[in-house]
Amino acid sequence: MINAQVGFDDLGLGEPLLKALRDKGYVHPSPIQEQAIPAVIRGRDLMAAAQTGTGKTAGFTLPMLERLRHGRRPARGQVRALVLTPTRELAAQVHENVRAYGRHLPLRSEVVFGGVKINPQIERLQKGVDLLVATPGRLLDLHQQGVLRFDQLECLVLDEADRMLDMGFIHDIRRLIRLLPEQRQNLLFSATFSPPIRKLATGLLHQPLQIQVTPENQTARSVEQVVHPCDMKRKSELLSHLIRDGDWRQVLVFSRTKHGANRVAEKLSREGLEAAAIHGNKSQGARTRALQGFKQGSVRVLVATDIAARGIDIQQLPHVINLDLPNVAEDYVHRIGRTGRAGETGHAISLVAAEESLLLKAIERLTGEVLRKEDVKGFEPTILTAPPIDLGGGRRRSNQRPRRRQGGSSGRQRRH
Ligand code: AMP
Repeated sequence: MINAQVGFDDLGLGEPLLKALRDKGYVHPSPIQEQAIPAVIRGRDLMAAAQTGTGKTAGFTLPMLERLRHGRRPARGQVRALVLTPTRELAAQVHENVRAYGRHLPLRSEVVFGGVKINPQIERLQKGVDLLVATPGRLLDLHQQGVLRFDQLECLVLDEADRMLDMGFIHDIRRLIRLLPEQRQNLLFSATFSPPIRKLATGLLHQPLQIQVTPENQTARSVEQVVHPCDMKRKSELLSHLIRDGDWRQVLVFSRTKHGANRVAEKLSREGLEAAAIHGNKSQGARTRALQGFKQGSVRVLVATDIAARGIDIQQLPHVINLDLPNVAEDYVHRIGRTGRAGETGHAISLVAAEESLLLKAIERLTGEVLRKEDVKGFEPTILTAPPIDLGGGRRRSNQRPRRRQGGSSGRQRRH
């Protein structure tokens, strides 16, 4: 994926940023970086179709820092560049990137999100910040409290915009946009470009450069996908069998519901497989601990709901398992985007019961691929047809987006 012909020093980045890249050991820009960095430095708007794992974060962070280092420093309570993300985890990760790339620059950056005390955030923002990473709900709270002002705002980034819409943030986003100066640069990143995203883009972006690093709604090529048909009741047993049989050391498991995530993590733990669940009902501390353990290897199996898993940056994750299929087909693409990064082949395995056949069809329609089905010996399904599972939305069709997502991070999704 990396173009060995091009170096970072060809893209218009100054020495402090090039030094930070050398510190990180990055030599060549990824395709999205190669295209986005010079355009953003020139001040263009951007509409990029890119999933996590493409290097998109550096693709917007580096040129933004390059622009920010030349302008006027922020006055009290002012923000010069704003990155909005759908989840706390993603906000924290983006901010980690900002700090790493900006380490040789005298710029101030901060991150704010809900679920933690607001007062320390208020204090940190008072002096003004060059770059703020935020989730929409907490940002609006801070603005309403008079802590933040946007008169000096030069650049707005919406990261994982599709997910922000899925999570019901559209009104918050529109309200925020109305608070910003009209003259500004806008960068929009989204894994998929559905009609609502296009509509948002039309109102937001001015003659944007369009970049697409993976074909629209197509799953990444380096991911080997397989479906193991099985009975609903035997899924967790099959999961544990697969982990042991393959001796997998780091497995991300997706569960549609928080309850299901807990149940499976507890069951695996009881059987001696180190497992942890992350979802919206877990405290921020518990989520961070679970993720840390997973990255360091003390947690072998991380069971996550779609929303909690969003934006988790774990490189070269070898195995992603769908304990159940997502009720929104696009989520399948997001889920398996966790594996097979940076040239490594990943494995995305879906355990699919007869009740989920419509969900499977919706995924196959979206990705344009018929997934390979393979029985696991001893776990062949005994139930071959069954009424579709109830997704909690009455007679909603499986490929339609629910207005409000189920099984994510609780009813307080809009306050992250
Ligand atoms: P992202 O798509 O922004 O989540 O980035 C995916 C991962 O790739 C992150 O861990 C980055 O630190 C890493 N990364 C980003 N750009 C490069 C690059 N040019 N060379 C090597 N690694 C990179």
